[in-house]
Amino acid sequence: MDDTSKTVCILTFGCQMNKLDSQLLRGELARAGFAPEDDPDRADVVLYNTCSVRQHAEDRVLSRLGAHRRRAMREDGFVLGVIGCMAQRLGEGLRRKFEFVDLVCGTEALLRVPGYLRQIIAGHGPVVDVRQDGPFHFDRTPSVRVSPHRAYTSVMRGCDRFCAYCIVPYVRGREVSRPLEEVVEEVRLLAADGAREVILLGQNVNSYGKGLGGVTLADLLARVNEVDGLARIRFLTSHPKDMSDAILDAVGGLDKVCEYLHVPAQSGSDAVLRRMKRGYAAAEYRDMVDRARDRIPGVELASDFMVGFPGETDADFQDTLDLLREVRFQQSFVFKYSARPGTKAAEFPDDVPKDVKMERNRLLLKAQEEVDSGRRAAMVGQEVEVLVDGPSKADAAKLSGRTRQNDIAVFRGPDELAGRLCRVRIVDSTPLTLFGELLRARADHRDAENTERRQL
Ligand code: SAM
Ligand code: SF4
Repeated sequence: MDDTSKTVCILTFGCQMNKLDSQLLRGELARAGFAPEDDPDRADVVLYNTCSVRQHAEDRVLSRLGAHRRRAMREDGFVLGVIGCMAQRLGEGLRRKFEFVDLVCGTEALLRVPGYLRQIIAGHGPVVDVRQDGPFHFDRTPSVRVSPHRAYTSVMRGCDRFCAYCIVPYVRGREVSRPLEEVVEEVRLLAADGAREVILLGQNVNSYGKGLGGVTLADLLARVNEVDGLARIRFLTSHPKDMSDAILDAVGGLDKVCEYLHVPAQSGSDAVLRRMKRGYAAAEYRDMVDRARDRIPGVELASDFMVGFPGETDADFQDTLDLLREVRFQQSFVFKYSARPGTKAAEFPDDVPKDVKMERNRLLLKAQEEVDSGRRAAMVGQEVEVLVDGPSKADAAKLSGRTRQNDIAVFRGPDELAGRLCRVRIVDSTPLTLFGELLRARADHRDAENTERRQL
């Protein structure tokens, strides 16, 4: 068997950026002649694209790797690789622990993966490459994306913020923004291939533009808003400190940019925020929420929260609960603090007991669920715009899609509406889902409006 008939399965852990990296690599591998395979047991090559943000994410991969030992030791031609954040963090150490891993490839070496696979298949032995040698650019294959109607686009890599708990700046390197024209061109390609919604990705996406001579995320949003065929734009993840009025005005004023901001607060306690090195106090976060709500009618905000950061007291945690209840987030992602070697916070004693972390995690999720129930129940009777994804996973007789504020909406309608914008009246809700009835499909009305505007 030559290398070009080999099949590759990529198993992805972690955030949207990892999911996107896997899609980009899949395109790159296809161009190099490798065929995709979803089942790791049937694939000739298995690659784990990994996350290092919490120890738990690493442990899951480590245990999965162990399960490949027999096959890796016995089967000639089987290739096992670890790529991404954990490969970057552990490097040679991974091969010392798992000598049957053939490829360890860090976050800035992903473009070199196809070449390394050929080398390994040709019998030249294992490869470890964790060089962090600067920006690189995948040649995007537009058809490889999260869903037929939705696509991620990376607008920047890395992070310069160095929050005390976070491994990202170490494993993904310094912040580098992609040139504006390059991003716009990629979005054009995606829209021409049928993507209706694009999600612009960066660890700190609202600081987009560093090193580009004064370009900002607001400028990028304005340009992407002009792309024909596109119906919606979102961007993830924003840092509260970088949420300028210009960005908020762009969200409020551009028709395709959704009224949804993911801006992690992490904590409601000033003492904890200070030790986390987040660079803002809770009052500044509240002020950012007020500015967003003043400037963007109907905006919803989502947050990440961390519980059990070193030194977090009951009173600190109460401040976080208060913030969550007061802001009434559209969604909250809650994480238990996990010490990451090499970060500033790893020097502090990890002194919040495990059971206390678990209880705070539970209480925060419960508070969010109360917010969810109230928020979605209050939407009954409203008319919303939904971009239809396709049949609902829970009930294939119905369609499922997302509102502009990122709520899941389920309703009856013909399958042909997949990928189209519809007006839906909400008739019922559960904490996580809106149920509605179809009023009318508004396919391409925004595109039509754009065309009219250009013709004037
Ligand atoms: N860039 C985003 C920001 O500034 O909020 C978040 C990126 S981080 C990969 C995603 C989330 O993981 C963070 O918002 C944080 O809540 C969580 N996280 C990061 N480091 C963590 C750690 N050491 N332990 C637990 N959760 C962590
Ligand atoms: Fe990590 Fe902070 Fe950068 Fe987000 S902003 S990726 S939490 S260092």
